[in-house]
Parts: sequence; structure tokens; C-alpha cells
Amino acid sequence: MASRSLLKTFFFWIGIGFISFVFLKVVLIKKNPPTGVAYSGFQTLVDNGDIVSANIYVESDSARVDALLRSSQKYVETTISSAELPDLTRRLRDRGASVSIRESRTLDWAMLVLMAVPLILLIGFCLFLARRVQSSARRAQATEEAKSRTGIGYDLHRLEEGRPLIVGGIELTFDKGPVGHSDGDVLAHALCDALLGAAGLGDIGTHFPDTDPQWKGANSLLFLEHAKKLLADKNFAIVHVDAVVIIEKPKLGPHFPKMREALAKALGVSSDKIHLKAKTNEGVDAIGRGEAIAAHVVATLSLR
Ligand code: MG
Repeated sequence: MASRSLLKTFFFWIGIGFISFVFLKVVLIKKNPPTGVAYSGFQTLVDNGDIVSANIYVESDSARVDALLRSSQKYVETTISSAELPDLTRRLRDRGASVSIRESRTLDWAMLVLMAVPLILLIGFCLFLARRVQSSARRAQATEEAKSRTGIGYDLHRLEEGRPLIVGGIELTFDKGPVGHSDGDVLAHALCDALLGAAGLGDIGTHFPDTDPQWKGANSLLFLEHAKKLLADKNFAIVHVDAVVIIEKPKLGPHFPKMREALAKALGVSSDKIHLKAKTNEGVDAIGRGEAIAAHVVATLSLR
């Protein structure tokens, strides 16, 4: 993409150069109009050797002469008949003037048109290139968007006294813990659902039904390890995880570093890809009364 941008810039400045050149040529032609002189006066200038160079534009039966004066460095212009042209040319050359004979002065405009053709082609090519670059960028963006997937997960467990409180794979010291078929880790469960949802692989209940005795009391990090394998099979990589755990007590913030490490290890990613937040429910409803714990997780995946 960088090389295309460089190419585009290169052609842009080439185009600007062409435009400037043509513009200056037109302006210079208009800004230095030659002074008209009678042919007799022009002959005197020729005979005095005051002509440095002359451009002669031959038309059907006459010729227009533009000449640069040695004394004033200005241009003069005169018109002669075609019959006088050979003699004038000879006299100019005899006095050291350079002489250029062209078909007609309209040749200048023909030259401008000729110069404009490549310029127009160049501008067209630049526009074509710019559109190609733009459409490539759009396609790349669309592809990138198609590669990115987001999933959401939610879980809630009732809390009962005497059960271990496990959140994010870490056991916390508390007098209540979640009721569940497995260890009741709401954060791991919601995270698992978010990952499976983003990958279009169903939900945690599909893969780990709570009717299966092998998952009774299971460490929920096992679910994440299994989800990691499922994602790898589908060529998904975890880009980022953002979670919020809602519980009235205890405070979770001090335990986040260990939770992030445990979750990251189970998923095979670095812990900086996992962001955790904690909330209380301000004493409202079952969570607020300390009867439940819940978690919301959003996970973003990308196709490798
Ligand atoms: Mg659950």
C-alpha cells in the first residue's frame, strides 16, 4: 500500500510539473509580445547586425518574422512576402543571426496540444491509479472487517454459603460461593460463551452440557482450554476480551491480575488481551442482596 501511495505521489508531481510547464509557456508567450515594425525598419536592424536570432513562420504567400534584438533584448515582429524570404534569410545568416524557419506560427499551439496529450493521458492514468488504490483500500477494509468477529457472553449463578467462590479461575476467600454443575465460575462461563458466539460455535451448554457427569465440579478453565482448541481449528485468534463481573461482595479488583493471568494461560494469550472490571448492584435485586453473581463478556476474534 505504501509503494502505491508513493507511485501516486510521484505521478501527481509529474502531472503538476507538466501543468506548470504548459502554463508558463502560455504566460510567457502572452507576456512578451513582439513589437511590430515595418519591413524597411526591420531591414535596417538586419543590416546593422542588431538581430541575434529570428523565427520565421511561413504562411501561404507571406511570412511572419519574430526577431530578438541584440541591443534591447526585446522581440520585434514584421511581415514579409514569401518572395523576400530567401534574401532576408541569407542576410540574417551573413550577419551572424540564427534563423529558424517553421511552417506557421500556429505550430506553437500544435506543440502545446501535442504536449497536452501526454499530460491528459498522465492525468487520466493518475485518476485511474487513484481509483484503483481507493478500491483496493476499500476491499482490504472489507476483508479486514470480515476477518473480525465479536461475541457476547453472560452468566449468573446463585450464591450459597459454604461453597468456594471461584471467579476467573481464582478461588477467593468468602463465605458464599456459586451453585452450579461445574465450579460455577461465572466469568469463565461468560467468557467461554462470548468466544464460542464470536466463532459461531454455539454456546457453553452445547459443548459442556450440565447433564454430563464428567463436568460435575469441573474447573471452568478446562472449558476455556477446550474453547481455545475449537477456535484454533477454525483459525480464529483472540484479539481482545472485555468483561464485567457483578457481585456485591467481596471486592474483586485486587484479584484481577491473578484472574487475568489464569484466564490468559487457559486461552493461550497474553494477559494484556484480557480486561476485567467489577461492579456492585447497589443493593438492588438478587445480586444486590448478595444472593447471586453475574458476568458480562465481550470477546473479539480475528481470522488468521
Ligand atoms: Mg454458568
